[in-house]
Amino acid sequence: MKKPILNILNRPAQWHMVGDGFRVYNYFPSGYQIAEHMNPFLMLDFNPQHSFAPSQTPRGVGVHPHKGFETVTIAYQGAVAHHDSAGNSGIIGPGEVQWMTAGSGVLHKEYHELEFSKLGGPFEMIQLWVNLPRQYKSEPPSYQTISLNNRCVWNSKNGASQVHVIAGQFKHVKSNTHTYSEMDVWDMQIYNESLEFVVPDNRHSSCLLINGTAVINEKNANAHDMVLFAHDGNTVKISTESSTRILWLSAQPILEPVVQYGPFVMNTKQEIVEAMEQFHAGAFGRLED
Ligand code: MN
Repeated sequence: MKKPILNILNRPAQWHMVGDGFRVYNYFPSGYQIAEHMNPFLMLDFNPQHSFAPSQTPRGVGVHPHKGFETVTIAYQGAVAHHDSAGNSGIIGPGEVQWMTAGSGVLHKEYHELEFSKLGGPFEMIQLWVNLPRQYKSEPPSYQTISLNNRCVWNSKNGASQVHVIAGQFKHVKSNTHTYSEMDVWDMQIYNESLEFVVPDNRHSSCLLINGTAVINEKNANAHDMVLFAHDGNTVKISTESSTRILWLSAQPILEPVVQYGPFVMNTKQEIVEAMEQFHAGAFGRLED
């Protein structure tokens, strides 16, 4: 049975700056109150294509903490540099992904990559927050870089369309990315064809049109629309006439209480208090700005 579409949400009205480097529309939890439908995804910031002027000093966000979840940064245009207090660092460019598990607590900073910053130009990216099940919230922080040379990609028969399997599986192609719960995160580029696929049971499913237009299970969706699917039904058909890029999100919800205070996401208020104490005591390590 075709997966029914519950709702198509337009881009929220207001963008805001994250630091001075990310000009984002927050789709949830602020833009739309759909947290329950998106579980285990906690937050999605979308920076649609925006041209930044050249700058000798990279724009971005200085040192800040995270604990109890994962941050996933997907670069479509431009480049992002990342450093954290666990000693990890990396640079991602177009088509690449940073998957950071904050786990027990980490400090990090996120800036435009230096060469991109000096040249300026179009920048387009997503940051997604993924909750961790209670038993993994104390995992040591870790970091996975998905670069162009280690991506897991499905190509259509005529070679025109491709699906980068950031996490999970698309048809026979499985991602190498380690996740702590069942989920599919795909960067889909569909050129003038129809893709059909089956969504496993018990998933919360949605997709965001990064650019282009599509007909999705017989409904029209436009650039920057977010499409929410019902829980019943398993098949999805996406048809495009030219070139469309879609972020697909489908995951098993984590059925545990969520208590969030800014960049800390735990299961109880007491754990948030403890997280604050650990942070202020320096337990997340050190990182220079
Ligand atoms: Mn961050």
